[in-house]
Parts: sequence; C-alpha cells; structure tokens
Amino acid sequence: MQSQTCTCPCGESTFVIKSKPLIRFYCHCTICQSLYKKPFVDVSALWAGNVELPENHNLHFGKYRLPPALSRGICKSCSSPVVGFLRLAPFVRLAFFPSRSVEDESSLRDSQGHIFYHRCLAESGDALPKFSGYWKSELAVTSMLIGSMLKRS
Ligand SMILES: [Zn+2]
Ligand SMILES: [Zn+2]
Repeated sequence: MQSQTCTCPCGESTFVIKSKPLIRFYCHCTICQSLYKKPFVDVSALWAGNVELPENHNLHFGKYRLPPALSRGICKSCSSPVVGFLRLAPFVRLAFFPSRSVEDESSLRDSQGHIFYHRCLAESGDALPKFSGYWKSELAVTSMLIGSMLKRS
C-alpha cells in the first residue's frame, strides 16, 4: 500500500500511515464516547513504527483512565482525537486512529467487531462479534492482532 496522509476533522492535524492497518473495530468505551461525542467510534490500528507525525505536530497528548497505557493525541485546534499510542512492551507500540481520518476508507480492512459493548448506546444491527467487559474487550483486540500477524507469516 502507498503511504496515506490522514487528517483530523478540521485539517490542522495530520499524520502519515506507511502500511495498511492490521486491525479495525468499533469501540463503544465511555472515553471514546466523550472524546468523539459519538456513541461509538470506528478505529483502525497498526504498528507505531509505520506512523509518521510531522515534527511540529498540532497534538496534545493526554492520558485517560482507560486503557491506562494508551496516550491519546488530541488536535489542539478541533479537540478531536487524532492518533493514540499504546505501549505493549518496551519496543512494541501500536497506533490507533479513527478510520475516517484516511482519505480512502476502502483501503482499510473490514471491521472485525465491537468492543466495550457493555457501554453500547446505539445498538448495532450487524453480525459482527460483540465483546462486553473490559478484559474481554482487551483480549478481543489482542486476538485480532495475533490473527493479523499469523495471516502475514
Ligand atoms: Zn474506546
Ligand atoms: Zn483538528
């Protein structure tokens, strides 16, 4: 896949993804609900090494209650979450971003499920798997990730 430039809703914050995201899911957690002001968010993730932030980016990094290891980069201009980094191990970091930030959403994979579904405000009518509870949701993301790595090797 070609590199793609991703942008926040106001266009002031950008970053580049250099590979196709590994996983994609809908997150219904309360922090996403309040940051995005939506009942749930369509999220994609890839290895942080494949994400390039401009040197003088326009992001403010904040930590929120959940998940504790996730540092969320928020656009200083429009207050939208732009890209978040999750440390899994000393040199292993994942980057999460809202799928709508890419120009061509069809270049992303299909969504694999709903997490934090116990916080669901808007029922989904799709047939995707739904994971409720904190640990079940975390585990679902981990297994999506492992599945995507197994498929590649
Ligand atoms: Zn969330
Ligand atoms: Zn913005």
